[in-house]
Amino acid sequence: MTKAIILDRDGVINVERGYTHRLEDFVILPDLVEVLQTFVQKGYLLIIISNQSGIAKGLYLQSETELLHQYLTDEMTKNNIFFSEIYYCVHHPDVCNCICRKPNSLFVEKAIARFNIDPSKSFFIGDKERDTEAGEKAGVKGILIEANSSLKNILNYIP
Ligand SMILES: [Mg+2]
Ligand SMILES: [Zn+2]
Repeated sequence: MTKAIILDRDGVINVERGYTHRLEDFVILPDLVEVLQTFVQKGYLLIIISNQSGIAKGLYLQSETELLHQYLTDEMTKNNIFFSEIYYCVHHPDVCNCICRKPNSLFVEKAIARFNIDPSKSFFIGDKERDTEAGEKAGVKGILIEANSSLKNILNYIP
């Protein structure tokens, strides 16, 4: 079994500005690379789980979200950081119900099964309670941070 750090995207990986979908608005947070490298050194897989209800609402296209994720993946690859998967929910209850939108834990459970993750040794870092809730429903410890804050602040919680 392995262990993982699961991260929310907006407000944790990149600056939260509400329905981020344009490349010029996708600003990677300053300490991210350094902290993710520390997680990798400690032996964690890295996984992103994000709610992207702007797609259901027609505010932007799934292809725009894919472009952002390609950009993020390219930037991280330059620093030897790899995400095992970037899961995102394209739904919103006003448009269609689903079981993947956080605080539902479907993507967490999928990741656990697919990558043989030990939830008791893993963490979900998010800036909303629905993030930590999604993790905890699947037995993954949640760490709630302030949006756009430095992940260095929580390094002490990660063994
Ligand atoms: Mg967020
Ligand atoms: Zn969904």
